[in-house]
Amino acid sequence: MADDAALVHAVALAVLDLDEADPATGFATPYPERAQSALDQLTLTCLSRGVRPPRSLPGLVGWCGSRPLADWPLRLPDEVLGGDGLLVDVRRSRPTGLCREWAQDGSAVRSDPIRDHLDATVAPDRHLECRLFLAEHQVVPDEVVTAFAGDRVARRTWRLVRGLYGPVPRALVRRGEVARCTACHAPSVPLVGGGWVCERETCAAAEQPPELLPATGSLVLAEAARRTIGGVGRVERAVVELARSHDAAVTCGAEGLRIDWPEGGHRLVLTFDHGDPALLARAVDRSAWRDQNPLVVIPGERLWARSDYRTVFDGLLSGAPTLVADSELVDLAGGSAKRNEA
Ligand SMILES: [Zn+2]
Repeated sequence: MADDAALVHAVALAVLDLDEADPATGFATPYPERAQSALDQLTLTCLSRGVRPPRSLPGLVGWCGSRPLADWPLRLPDEVLGGDGLLVDVRRSRPTGLCREWAQDGSAVRSDPIRDHLDATVAPDRHLECRLFLAEHQVVPDEVVTAFAGDRVARRTWRLVRGLYGPVPRALVRRGEVARCTACHAPSVPLVGGGWVCERETCAAAEQPPELLPATGSLVLAEAARRTIGGVGRVERAVVELARSHDAAVTCGAEGLRIDWPEGGHRLVLTFDHGDPALLARAVDRSAWRDQNPLVVIPGERLWARSDYRTVFDGLLSGAPTLVADSELVDLAGGSAKRNEA
């Protein structure tokens, strides 16, 4: 990949830093170091190529929300310039999935805040059960927390995952209420002009009226954990469901899922939620399981969103592992699937 990929990676990290910074200080000078450095690098590159650069960090964020990567004065290979190319989702006031994919690009370790939390206290064979619980409970009203106490199984799981929750952040509250998407259970974001939209940019029912809950007393799963659950977590659930229907045992590893068949033998599955096939190919290439013929599974909506998804992915990985959508899965053992070429 051309050398300007490192600059996009740096800008993506800067956007994430600014998203996490206290709004009262994030845009005040002196700027956060990594963000300032990314702005400096972009400024130099723009000036050397005769393009007017963003003048400040707010300017950089505005640039990332309105200018697709294809319009940046950068040397990037064509295959990473598909899709809308925006690093900031202006409507939801947050970094896009693409921004997070660029931020992870080059990192050998897959970040997983849920695994980091559970590793400290929970035996590996119970991780999966905790992740399935988290997917159902991303926003938890007060009375449901109380109900957990009366249910032996829920109480036990809740004790293990409670540390991943916090009070509802102000950005998710309007008129004392927090909203939960009725389709995927993720929080919905209040829009400036009224209404709500599911925070997941690929949610099929993002615009549907959400369920409203009192913000006071409710708890919300931490944002990084929600991203994991809403993305790869949904793919994991599809794989686990299918594997269990074949009486196979599934365990969560550092790289992905391992399926052990009742008759012996196993299959490794890498689950991802990448919208960009080139960045996915790079991530798979960095995986320690790369050479063990893993099955790579992504959400169907990611695959169907880009007609060139499979071509780009296969083109970048020689002897590519099999890529399938969660909705295509019928045969984990063979790694094949009913091809639904929608
Ligand atoms: Zn949703």
